[in-house]
Amino acid sequence: MDDTIRASAADLAAAMQAGEMSSVEITQAQLDRIAEVDGDLHAFLHVDADGALATAKRVDDARAAGEAVAALAGVPIAIKDVVVTRGLPTTCGSHILEGWIPPYDATIVTRLRQAGLPILGKTNMDELAMGSSTEHSAYGPSRNPWDLGRIPGGSGGGSAAAVASHQAPLAIGTDTGGSIRQPAAVTGTVGAKPTYGGVSRYGLIALASSLDQAGPVARTVLDAAMLHELLGGHDPLDSTSLDAPVPALVDAVRDADVAGLRVGVVRELGGEGYQRGVRARFDEVVGLLTDAGAEVTEVSCPHFDYALAAYYLILPSEASSNLAKFDAMRYGLRVPPDGVADPSAEQVMAATRAAGFGDEVKRRIILGTYALSSGYYDAYYGSAQKVRTLIQRDFAAAFDQADVLLSPTAPTTAFRFGEKLDDPVAMYLNDIATIPANLAGVPGISVPSGLADEDGLPTGVQVLAPARADDRVYRVGAVIEALLVERWGGTLLARAPSVTGTR
Ligand code: GLN
Repeated sequence: MDDTIRASAADLAAAMQAGEMSSVEITQAQLDRIAEVDGDLHAFLHVDADGALATAKRVDDARAAGEAVAALAGVPIAIKDVVVTRGLPTTCGSHILEGWIPPYDATIVTRLRQAGLPILGKTNMDELAMGSSTEHSAYGPSRNPWDLGRIPGGSGGGSAAAVASHQAPLAIGTDTGGSIRQPAAVTGTVGAKPTYGGVSRYGLIALASSLDQAGPVARTVLDAAMLHELLGGHDPLDSTSLDAPVPALVDAVRDADVAGLRVGVVRELGGEGYQRGVRARFDEVVGLLTDAGAEVTEVSCPHFDYALAAYYLILPSEASSNLAKFDAMRYGLRVPPDGVADPSAEQVMAATRAAGFGDEVKRRIILGTYALSSGYYDAYYGSAQKVRTLIQRDFAAAFDQADVLLSPTAPTTAFRFGEKLDDPVAMYLNDIATIPANLAGVPGISVPSGLADEDGLPTGVQVLAPARADDRVYRVGAVIEALLVERWGGTLLARAPSVTGTR
């Protein structure tokens, strides 16, 4: 049982293929684990035991009948609550959608269902995907399995905590400014943000449509690649979906090699503001890659210094427009205004939005509405879009000199609850290294780089590649993983303390 919950998705798939294990057994083991530890971790907002077991049984029956099944058939998965799931509550971590049961599936959920992955449940997140810690969830934070007094990252902290604590071998995340990669870094897991358009956005509750991208959360690079291949590919329901096949990611992992590869270390994503232990582990990875034959150079992306400022104009602008649909009429919550006998639609809308949205969401709606307003549009939104172009040019120039770029994923390890809650800018700064990739639409992966000496907590390294070259981030990620597993004599998570009783 302990081995089952610790196994990789690839190993579970192989064991089912060989007839050594059933999906019902595996799914039940995960559900037992959730029952055992999620009271401490709060990774899940909703668990669907019956649905998961029913899917598992269907896959077992299909296999027994000799039917061809998908590579990951029968491997259970957890889904971030920003993703719409037919028949399963979808709150996006907000009171505004409390009680909403979607009548349709996101395209990526359709693909998971068609491939026969039992859906264990929906994972916790910062409200409407705004945050870096899950402390903005309307339903209370998730906890980091390495230290229950610390954040598991955000906004997808629930997915990362679920995978890190062996409640699920796989999970889905979404990354608008780092919400897959930063939680991966602070929980010792693997998370990838695909090229913009590489994975369908149909059925994701939009935060900032030009930045959002769904992707895999896993414990190994191979597992992430397998899941990414399943999720990716053209979707006619998403007009920004790339009409191109998914790059061969699993092959890239299996044949991973960095000999002769040009690796650029981004000067602006390091140094001041980055925790000492984070930098030390990063420098070690650079050394290992050099020893493995990579040609490592330093590259400069001068406009990255303005990425955070541009992001916090573009994101609120798009969010303020996307969130206008929560009008008390169509979905979820409806709150009658206090003491008004015959309220107008506008009064109901105002009362509902006042009650249904948390402080961070309101802050960003106000900021975005202001940035887009007549007379300010050019000064704020227009300037931010120009900076975005300059950042894209920095990437283009850097990728002339290097095949992939490397940086720490996040400047610090997991911080304590409350540490940054009253200081939005301090919270925003945790995404300083992940945001440029979203602004440029390029793919990135975070893989564990080790434990910081000063606090013993996990830290991650980020690999970035040009748009549509997702295979490169997996290739380099797999080499880093292999070199470190060899050095540590096992995975980083094997060194994680028990998740229970450490609070
Ligand atoms: N933490 C970032 C923010 O608050 C990123 C969010 C995300 O990627 N969904 O906007």
